[in-house]
This record gives sequence, structure tokens and C-alpha cells, in this order.
Amino acid sequence: MRSPTSPPRPTRPPARRRRTRLVGGLVAFLLAVGAAPVYAADEVPNASVELAGPLTPTAPLGWSSDTWGGAKATFSWPTPGYEGDRYLRAEVSDPGSGDAKWWSDPFAAPSADKVWVSDVYRASVPTTLMVLWLGPANQQQFAVIAAAAPAADWTSVGGTVSVPTWAEQMRVMHVIGAVGWLDTDSYGVAAASPGPDVVQTADADAGAEDSVDPNFRPIVSLTFDDGWLSAYHKLIPEMNKRKLPGSHYIVAGFADTPGYGADYVSSDYVLQLARDGHEIGSHTMMHDNLVNLPIEQVLPNLQQSKQILGDFGINIVGFVPPFGEYNDAVQAHIETTYAYSRTVKAGINVEPYMTYELWGVVVTAEMTVADLAGWVEQARQMHGWLILIFHRADEDPPSESFVRPSVFAAMMDHLVAVDADVRPVGEVLGVWQWQPPVEEVVDVQTGKGFDQPDGVGKAYSAAGGDGGDGSDDGCTAGRRGGGAGALALVFAFSACLFGVMRRHRA
Ligand SMILES: [Zn+2]
Repeated sequence: MRSPTSPPRPTRPPARRRRTRLVGGLVAFLLAVGAAPVYAADEVPNASVELAGPLTPTAPLGWSSDTWGGAKATFSWPTPGYEGDRYLRAEVSDPGSGDAKWWSDPFAAPSADKVWVSDVYRASVPTTLMVLWLGPANQQQFAVIAAAAPAADWTSVGGTVSVPTWAEQMRVMHVIGAVGWLDTDSYGVAAASPGPDVVQTADADAGAEDSVDPNFRPIVSLTFDDGWLSAYHKLIPEMNKRKLPGSHYIVAGFADTPGYGADYVSSDYVLQLARDGHEIGSHTMMHDNLVNLPIEQVLPNLQQSKQILGDFGINIVGFVPPFGEYNDAVQAHIETTYAYSRTVKAGINVEPYMTYELWGVVVTAEMTVADLAGWVEQARQMHGWLILIFHRADEDPPSESFVRPSVFAAMMDHLVAVDADVRPVGEVLGVWQWQPPVEEVVDVQTGKGFDQPDGVGKAYSAAGGDGGDGSDDGCTAGRRGGGAGALALVFAFSACLFGVMRRHRA
């Protein structure tokens, strides 16, 4: 086992995770849904690991598993725990050059010089209780709290550690780096009275930033997935009235496509959003689950949806994977095609932002204005960025994915009242700036006047001859005079094309 005074272990989280710290998801979510326990900012989230995640009911809220260095491990959340019903188990079959662990989501480091960190565990091999300190300039420092000897029965372990002056957040973890199993439960972090340090952390290169800026405006982004027509009709006007632009992730193949027009925005709505100052992003061609799609189809899907939406003369930089589903291979393609990607992981984003794994909070039919206010206040206290996720709207919500327009309007009033810094996602990241769509008049017959690959126009002709598909259905919805109509037609060409391709494939 390593000595308690050895340098921080160079444990290395996966590259994506390293880019940011996303904190407060638990606290904020509980505030949002009004669930029973509400944790103080400096407490380990879901410390007794009893609560299930809101989006992953089979996994513990506020905890995730991790391996590095080629370690092979399985993770589970079995019963009965030392305290309550549940505990965390990690079983390592091959430690490789690394280790395996459950670790807490980042949470605010206590404002104390030293803290006591502890858990209750049992293990077949020696293991290590550790923390990771996270600073505002992406500083990361692992610190060993205590070495834990093998123990067949539940055993307490803990130690004090100095809080680096630069540390804003921390994660708690119990690490297993050998073939064997480790069970943990009942994590705790508390301000400690001065005593012998287990570890003296070095903070020489850290920029101290202890003060909270009272003037910080919480950053809020209003995002809309799928392009539901009901949101366009019932929610967006409330934003426009208050000059609160949002980000809209459109399923490119739904717009102007027969059968989808009843529920989803058509190209002229998309254009109007762009004119009104909103950001447009992609949500794939056909709301595809990219993890289930053959990997060779993923990149074309990402590129085509971007091109179709971009053909409006709109700058498309953002992406949202449907169902929140992606893996490393998919993510690699997203990163080559888009400037950012937003997930549905609940939490508040804190700088430095994880550009390709932004967290958001799904606004459900049950969420109240007070719930929203709790989230915004969390973002303010954390100097964070709250991304809200909306889908569709109905005053009598048939399901959770709807929000009441009256509640939405009150939410918008609240954002204005607290002077939230409401901006589209791409603008917060500095990768997008609003500009009016390029409203270029297009000759419907020749396609001249817009820069379109040869294939599209040809395919449109083919579509016209495809059993009459192209003549009477939504493929011609954009056939109108005027710049906007012509541009809509460009969109219609593309949507139609892919509609035809889809029919041929089916
Ligand atoms: Zn979606």
C-alpha cells in the first residue's frame, strides 16, 4: 500500500470527464423535485447510497463507477447495506495498471481548513479511501485519506485532510487496485478540528480564489429537444416577449416530412426561430439512438442533419444525442462534427465546461416555479451554468415531457426577475453568435442561388417521380414565393430527400 504521505496518486479519469466539473446535480435535483432529503452543499451526495438516480433508477444517485489503466471490474448496488438498504460494490477481475472505484459526483468543498473523511467498508484486499480536490482553473489533486486493510465485516475508516485553498469542489472515492472485491457505504465529510494530517496537500501552483462574487449572474440556457410544434406555439412566444433566446435541437428528418408535420416544426418555423435570435442545433436525422445505429452510419447521420439545417444559412454548431445515448465511438464522431454536445445528465455546469458532455435539467410537468428558482439559486451560488431542457407544451399535460405554458411563462418571469444571464448554449461556450439567416432567394426550378451539392436537386427530381411522393405531400410544403419560402424549400428538398431514402431503405 502506498504511504499516506506519498504524492497524490495519479489516478486518471477518462478524458471527457477531465474537462470539467459538474456539481450539485443531486442537491439541485432534490430541490427541484422536492424529494425528502436535501443535502447541504458540503455533504457527500447520497452519502448512504440509498437513493436512485432520477434518470437511471437502477443506479445510485450522485455516484458513478470508474476504472482506469485497463482495469476490468464489475460494479453493483446491492442490498442490504451497512446503513439502510444499499451499498456500493466493486469487483476487480484484473486491475491492469489502474484501479476501480465508485466515486461521488463533485460537491462543494467545506469551507474549513481540514476535513474528516470517512466511510464504512469491507473488502477482500487492501484498499484506499481518497478524495479528489477540484479547483476553478481545472486544478485536480487526488489525496489519500486512509489505507484500509482487508476486512470481512463492516469496518469504519477515515482520516483528516487539509483542504487546498484553491479547492472549490471535491469527490470522495474508495479505490480497489487488486483482484478482489470492495463494499462501501455511509460516506461522510465533516469539518475537522485541528489535528494530525493524514496528508498535507501541496497547493503551491494553485490560484487561491476563496471569495464568492455577490454580483455573479447565474447563467441559464433554455434548450428544446426534438422541435415540437406545441413548444413553438405555446412556449417560444413567451421567450421572445422577454427577449430570452434559446437553443433548439431539431430532428432534421422530421421537419417538412409527411407524417411528422402534425407534431414537429417545419422549416419555416425553424427559420423563424433563427430570425428571432434563437440558436438551432441538430438532434440527428430521425431521432436515432446513435448507440444502436451501426457505427458507420453515425458520422453520415451527424453530417447530413447538420447540412440540412445549415442549408438555411444558419450556423449549426450544437448537437444533442437522442435519448441521451452515446458511447466513446459515437462521441468521437460528434466531436469531429459539432462544437459541443448536450446530454440529459442532471446537474449544473461549472467552468471549465465539459463541452461535449454538458449537463442539463429536464423540466417536467411537475416542476414548479419554486423548483426552478431552487436550481437557479444553486447555479448562482456555484457560479454555474444551468441548462434547462424542454420538450413540448400543454396546459393539461398528458405526460411528464409536457410543461404548462402558464408555468413556463412564470418561469420566464422569474429568470427576468433574478436577472439570470439567459443565453443560447453555443453563445455561453463562445462557439456561436446570432446572425440573421442568409435569406437568399432561390430559384425553385434550377436551385440556383444556393450552394447545394448536386445530389440533392437530382434526388428531389427522383423524389418527384417516386410514385408521386414528391408532389402532394409535405415535400412541397415550402413551395412558395419569397425568400423565406424559397429557403424553406431548400429545407424541404433535403427533408424530402431523406424521406425518400428512408422509404427506399425500408
Ligand atoms: Zn429527443
